Amino acid sequence: MKIKDLKDNFDKQIEINGFVDNVRNLQWVQFLIIKDITGSVQVTIEKSDESNSKLVEIVNNLSIGSTVKIKGIVKENSKVKLNGMEIIPEDIIVTSISLNELPINIKDKDAQEIDTRLDYRFLDLRNDFNKNIFIIQSDIVKYFREYLYSLDFLEIHTPKLIGTASESGSEVFEVKYFDRLAYLAQSPQFYKQMAMSSGFEKIFEVGPVFRAENSNTNRHTTEFTGFDVEFSYINSYEDVMDLEENMIKYSLNKINEKHSKILSDMYGSTISLPTKFPRIKLNDLYDELEKRYGYKVDDEEKNDLTREAEKLSYKYSMEEYNSEFLFVTDFPSEKRAFYHMRKDGIPQGYDLIFRGVEITTGAQREHRFDILKEQAKEKGLDKDVEFYLQFFKYGCPPHGGFGIGIDRFTMLLLNLATIKESMFIFRGPNRLNP
Ligand code: ATP
Repeated sequence: MKIKDLKDNFDKQIEINGFVDNVRNLQWVQFLIIKDITGSVQVTIEKSDESNSKLVEIVNNLSIGSTVKIKGIVKENSKVKLNGMEIIPEDIIVTSISLNELPINIKDKDAQEIDTRLDYRFLDLRNDFNKNIFIIQSDIVKYFREYLYSLDFLEIHTPKLIGTASESGSEVFEVKYFDRLAYLAQSPQFYKQMAMSSGFEKIFEVGPVFRAENSNTNRHTTEFTGFDVEFSYINSYEDVMDLEENMIKYSLNKINEKHSKILSDMYGSTISLPTKFPRIKLNDLYDELEKRYGYKVDDEEKNDLTREAEKLSYKYSMEEYNSEFLFVTDFPSEKRAFYHMRKDGIPQGYDLIFRGVEITTGAQREHRFDILKEQAKEKGLDKDVEFYLQFFKYGCPPHGGFGIGIDRFTMLLLNLATIKESMFIFRGPNRLNP
């Protein structure tokens, strides 16, 4: 039985498994706090009761962090602060022993530096604040999936070991592959599009994405989990924005139904979704930021979103639309990948900004072979991407898609200071362990 279900089983025989979270050994009584993934419960052992002598002996030797199986009766008891109940045990079986005192303070995660916590991540994750991040993250992805399945999307799995380094400017990791070099995939982009050429029509993938970026910001990591979507027969990139918006709304509404209390109490986060995510052209955004906040940048920098502009765009979209999400469109072609479709020279794509940070790039893709080849050539990539260009030689539906970084999205949703917190195990330029 899980601890959360005890409240429905008062006066019944129960059996639970969990970690020993605390031991209080008083003159007349022993209290244990046992914890599983669903909650904590008090176990009470009266020392005066002769029949408890074996249990008292076990508890005398019980270290925090050990795991136990407890058999006994669960009683309602309003005097017990922890959930108004206690277990009166009949048997305590120690299933594993914590050999030493824990090397980090797991009750107060902030009692040590994040890097010390990451060294002992297996213990750090026993902390409730940390554990709940992953309970919520699991649901975010579950509901994204659920939404796409309801629209008949297929989940596919593309290779992460690839033969050519290509696609865009991002740095790729090289790996030794027998007597040659291979590369770690920096996105599933080409394979997602291959699935369109194969007639799969609607697909998504949740998988690792590798970036050899030597950046130590709070939102970059060298390996993250991408949630990538691609679908066919679209009319414009507006369809891509619509799908992403609806997928996020579906997931966040469900997250809100299930976790709103934890979200606000533990992470100080409230989800409020506008009826429609606002959309603005990059140039217009810069005009607004200058007009409203006196934010000025050189024309050259206006080619892309500066970090400061991203941050200010949050202020702007809250003020103007009461929205934490903002679609920014009409980036210049030199800043976008060669495979974005262009109309009158303007890439038909967008970035989605959430709470002042980019969480997605999406676009309608160029599916016409000649034009695509020309655009690849313009970026000096046509030779590197020959295998990819083939996908468009024998017919390929018009299509588009997007990629959202799950770790970054979780960090932003839960107001975490760094992406190190929202990754089960963080990978950065200076960290390959644990
Ligand atoms: P940024 O400009 O923030 O470095 P990007 O333009 O390289 O991001 P894309 O290649 O468009 O990002 O990737 C799509 C999404 O994947 C991003 O919007 C973000 O959510 C996530 N992402 C990209 N790079 C990283 C990274 N290094 N660490 C964590 N998430 C990332």
